[in-house]
Amino acid sequence: MHVNWLIVGAGITGCTLAERIASQLGQKVLVVERRDHIGGNAYDEYDAAGVLVHRYGPHVFHTSNRAVWDYLSQFTRWRPYQHRVLAVVDGKKVPVPFNLNSLYALFPARYAGKLEDTLISNYGFSASVPILELKEAGDMDLQVLAEYIYQRVFYGYTLKQWGLKPEELDPLVTGRVPVRVGRDDRYFQDAYQGIPMEGYTTMFRRMLKHPNIHVLLNADYKEIVEDVKFDRMIYTGSLDAFFDYAYGPLPYRSLWFDFVSFNEEWYQEVGTVNYPNEYDFTRITEYKHLAGQRVPWTALAYEYPEEYVPDRNEPYYPVPRQENYDRYLSYLKEARKLGNTVLFAGRLADYKYYNMDQAVAQALQLFEEVAG
Ligand code: FAD
Ligand code: UDP
Repeated sequence: MHVNWLIVGAGITGCTLAERIASQLGQKVLVVERRDHIGGNAYDEYDAAGVLVHRYGPHVFHTSNRAVWDYLSQFTRWRPYQHRVLAVVDGKKVPVPFNLNSLYALFPARYAGKLEDTLISNYGFSASVPILELKEAGDMDLQVLAEYIYQRVFYGYTLKQWGLKPEELDPLVTGRVPVRVGRDDRYFQDAYQGIPMEGYTTMFRRMLKHPNIHVLLNADYKEIVEDVKFDRMIYTGSLDAFFDYAYGPLPYRSLWFDFVSFNEEWYQEVGTVNYPNEYDFTRITEYKHLAGQRVPWTALAYEYPEEYVPDRNEPYYPVPRQENYDRYLSYLKEARKLGNTVLFAGRLADYKYYNMDQAVAQALQLFEEVAG
């Protein structure tokens, strides 16, 4: 078999690149995927009770990048959906990102009012303030508030999720969920948000449905690479694995999902409830909120973070911190030596905490370079 491109991984990055190369350059692509399905971590499927579940955790599409939204909209219509998350703090469920509504839910009204005024005069109404920045506030009241939010919302969750304290990670990690000096309870504030109307997997299937694209599932590329003739490769798997861990393992973080399904219409009031302080899991997602399904059963996923061990579980998250970036740079140097023959892309190979839209944006940019 001869193809122009071998693409390793059928996640959103691999799907985007395969689709562009096949449809715009008219070149032949083989996508090889070691799992038994396409879609990578954004894969969804119906469970036995007919509930559409995301096998690898809740995926909500959100972007402010119009080009990315328009690109994917060729392959799906969208169910308008604005994700809302509550966190259990001191026995109450309050909005996360922590905002003025959370403040009033947890503190007596007069004290909350005083803190609200101070927040607004320091940062302005509707500002977003990362918790590690709020902790540096000069004002005494704000320092007390910051310490409270840090302890109740961030510390326990981050320790569970990463096995590290917030300040041991790149500030961008906790900065994804900044304290909001406003009353917008949505998890994301991007201009475009939604869930593919017929699910992610259907969207990916449409992207790959092109006569120039062939998909091979259940195969690690290493098993087939000698048998396939190709001109160039795009690799979207873990970077350290590609180089046989020559500089030592690049830390990734894993999860295991406990799926529970039962004959009740609803379990919780929003798509996701976080448990920063109790239990070993970080959050519970009830999928019907995302898909908007009206079926008698419901399905939940409990997320239990765990250490990533190659060949035992999945590398879901790069671990953003300086020493890991340093190791990544050693691998990047090796990657560059391969020049144009092997290109690296995606959350695992770029070792970046991409959301789906960022993965697509990077893939589209790489395609422009390739098409040059
Ligand atoms: P992946 O989806 O990881 O795909 C890589 C593929 O390569 C995998 O299928 C893997 O099996 C395959 N592969 C690896 N090595 C090999 C090999 N040697 N041979 C063959 N195949 C191989 N993003 C959002 O925008 N919104 C969200 O709400 C959101 N929620 C998330 C929740 C969780 C729990 C997680 C883990 C991620 C979430 N994300 C979310 C991020 C999103 O999953 C990623 O941005 C996206 O999946 C990245 O796509 P990718 O193609 O780069 O990588
Ligand atoms: N976070 C937290 N408490 C929360 C929500 C998030 O401490 O209630 C921190 C935690 O470190 C987490 C990070 O913020 O890993 C990013 O959260 P996000 O929901 O974006 O994570 P993802 O959906 O990517 O797992």
